[in-house]
Amino acid sequence: MDKIVALAKRRGFIYPGSEIYGGLANTYDYGPVGAELLRNIKNLWWKNFIQKRPDIVGLDSGIISHHKIWEASGHVAGFADAMIDCKHCKARMRADHLLENYIESMDPKIREDLIRAYGGKNKDFSNALKVGKVEGLSVEMLENIRVNLSNLPTKPLICPNCGENEWTKIRKFNLLFPVQLGIVEGEQGSAYLRGETAQGIFINFRNVADSNRVRLPFGIGQIGKMFRNEITAGNSVFRTIEFEAGEIEYFFDPQTTKWEPLFEEWKNAIWEFVTKQLGIQEKNLRWREHEEEERSFYSMRTEDLEYHFPFGTKELWGLAYRTDYDLTQHMNASKKELMIVDPQTQKKILPHVIEPAVGMTRLLLMVLVDAYTEEEGRTVLKIAPKLAPYKVAVFPLLANKEDLVAKARKVFELLSPEFMTAFDDRGNIGKRYLSQDEIGTPWCVTIDFDTLDNDTVTVRDRDTTKQDRIKISDLVSYFTDKLEA
Ligand SMILES: [Zn+2]
Repeated sequence: MDKIVALAKRRGFIYPGSEIYGGLANTYDYGPVGAELLRNIKNLWWKNFIQKRPDIVGLDSGIISHHKIWEASGHVAGFADAMIDCKHCKARMRADHLLENYIESMDPKIREDLIRAYGGKNKDFSNALKVGKVEGLSVEMLENIRVNLSNLPTKPLICPNCGENEWTKIRKFNLLFPVQLGIVEGEQGSAYLRGETAQGIFINFRNVADSNRVRLPFGIGQIGKMFRNEITAGNSVFRTIEFEAGEIEYFFDPQTTKWEPLFEEWKNAIWEFVTKQLGIQEKNLRWREHEEEERSFYSMRTEDLEYHFPFGTKELWGLAYRTDYDLTQHMNASKKELMIVDPQTQKKILPHVIEPAVGMTRLLLMVLVDAYTEEEGRTVLKIAPKLAPYKVAVFPLLANKEDLVAKARKVFELLSPEFMTAFDDRGNIGKRYLSQDEIGTPWCVTIDFDTLDNDTVTVRDRDTTKQDRIKISDLVSYFTDKLEA
């Protein structure tokens, strides 16, 4: 992971936020190639789930939103992380992560013995040891697990920061960022930065249904920034306080559409997208169904597609059947009619939803991790070509030969309207290849002395390092074919 983080900074994918002022924890900026990669991922998501689907439409709702939205959605009351402080060094951390990391680090034999010993008398504790996950458990359940781990005689729960075993009680902290609008004090002017993009979809449900020719089942999807005021474990952009997500609410009438097959269809669609479109290796992926205790009370089923990151197997893409919980909440709180009328039967329907939700910036981190390869003295990002920040790089063989440089400029002008194209005439050709390998550029075009004679160039493939001789006039179709393959 350290190597990937270093490469991401060195080559301009990801920079720490506010760096020249000493940094701001859990914030990041995306550099030139990071911005390209992120945009490519978002465009591919949009193309796959909105452009190519006749049953899904897009939306772009606001970030600053009425406090009543978040009261109705339950976020003001319940959207909180369980936190714990180390009394010794004052470090504050997420209690669920502290416990999970500890359980993962336990000696398997000791863990087995404890599961057996506590099976009858403390179910919460033995379950946590068995599953290894505690996210979403109540504060009381977490505290029970924490106390038991702190009291283990052999290797108690210690602070990862200072090594002491002195803890405060576990408490909840709200994750929403409040904003105060204008000069109005108090409730009138109070709003929140959205904690998820989903609520923007629910509050616009009727607007979309009334202004578009949609018929159940249909989806509304959007990509956008969301904000969660949380403390994170510092694994690059895996979890940040400001991040971009792609969320879809897929509405259906539970009377006529069974949710179980729909849920399976969504699992398949997500799996296809991640493995085929993003080109991620299947061996690094798995589905995990949430235990009853980690599920939101209104969700009938939640499954996470997890990716095997260097710091553990972690959630990538959540899929939840949220029933009609959100629309009901907003209908009750706003006193507005959110039901829609079936044009055939005239029946009023309050649809249920299945929600696939993914962090775009988390997808970006996964793409970097999955593509990172060290081989034969070089580091290569084997990113799927359609995601690569630059598709092509153009080099003159020698930087000090004017006619080669001029010809290379011409080739750049030919390719750059079609593909994101880099131009590099610094240093020697070997170094230029290596630097393109590190940002995952699939093809490098070199203009040499033969080019001046016969208008052909060499095209070097990133993964095989093999070179083809191609006519300049064929380059656009050559790359287009490869990108569509
Ligand atoms: Zn400490």
